[in-house]
Amino acid sequence: MSFRDNLRKVTPYVPGEQPRGSVIKLNTNECPYPPSPKVAEALRNMDPERLRLYPEVGIETLTEALSAYYGVKKEQIFAGVGSDDVLSMCFLAFFEGKKPVLFPDVTYSFYDVWAEVYRIPYRTVPLDPDFRIRPEDYLAENGGIVIANPNAPTGRAEELSVLQEIIEKNQDSVVIIDEAYVDFGGETALPLIDRYPNLAVVRTMSKSRAMAGMRIGYAFASRELMEVLQAVKYSVNSYTMNTPSILAGAAAIKDESYFREITEKIIKTRERSRDVLCGLGFSCGRSSTNFLFAKPPEGIGAARVFEALKERRIYVRHFKKPERIADYLRITVGTEEEMDALFAALREILPALREEA
Ligand code: PMP
Repeated sequence: MSFRDNLRKVTPYVPGEQPRGSVIKLNTNECPYPPSPKVAEALRNMDPERLRLYPEVGIETLTEALSAYYGVKKEQIFAGVGSDDVLSMCFLAFFEGKKPVLFPDVTYSFYDVWAEVYRIPYRTVPLDPDFRIRPEDYLAENGGIVIANPNAPTGRAEELSVLQEIIEKNQDSVVIIDEAYVDFGGETALPLIDRYPNLAVVRTMSKSRAMAGMRIGYAFASRELMEVLQAVKYSVNSYTMNTPSILAGAAAIKDESYFREITEKIIKTRERSRDVLCGLGFSCGRSSTNFLFAKPPEGIGAARVFEALKERRIYVRHFKKPERIADYLRITVGTEEEMDALFAALREILPALREEA
């Protein structure tokens, strides 16, 4: 017997690289534009005295701003340190059962990590060959369901009716809809929270609000789910969000016109980029997110393109697992200039790789 037998053995989530120095960073779905100027203003105006004190325990300043913006009662909102924190708390709070939690085989690769670390049984459900959900696959017995809509890394959005069917037929389990990318084209399940007490909708300020560095996420659900979520949170760490994040988040949510401006710009660049990639021989489905999921031309491996881009200090994301997506690259939509630099690099790289093949 050694202390080593008592150590927790986990295979952690692997985040995208955060290289230092000057690079074109299209690998972690950050926003290429800065946050609203109102965020900088709120931080400048913060009295440093506030840092001496613990932050708001109920995160009121932020949840009140979210409540006013979304028209949802404060008691139905939960905020945390990025949606990773919010999702992690949801797994801990909602999935206590013995039956497996279901999620797609191709989705956010943190779900299985939380399931493992919290010892929650789970089963992955294959998406169809076009990476779409078949709602009938979610009729099996389960202890909960997690669906990212739009999905990552595929970029595909399902219609709300598909999700509603899954929620409707699984009223004995909690269904979590992860809407990290919904502002770029998805249909939100938020209006359903008052109808289905088993539904939780999770959002983030890391993408459409340009604040990945602030770590702000939130969830909407029935009061019943919220009470459990809050109780679990207060059993782990009562002061999760720091004061600057609370103030910055509240300022960001109030600046609707800036939010519209940057999301529209990203969507426009996304559509143009998809056309260019298709012109370069990539197959690239429609995206409802701030990234594109693209397969290099026949005979050119995604891993080789990934490496060749990295040599030119252009970072995109390549997932080796699951195997069915190993031929794809996930490319975050950057500024127009960043995308042009990517295309110029690809125009050089692709012929060279083709010769190699
Ligand atoms: N859900 C999905 C589907 C994501 O892609 C991400 C980003 N990695 C997150 C949640 C977590 O984002 P954050 O913790 O920055 O809010």
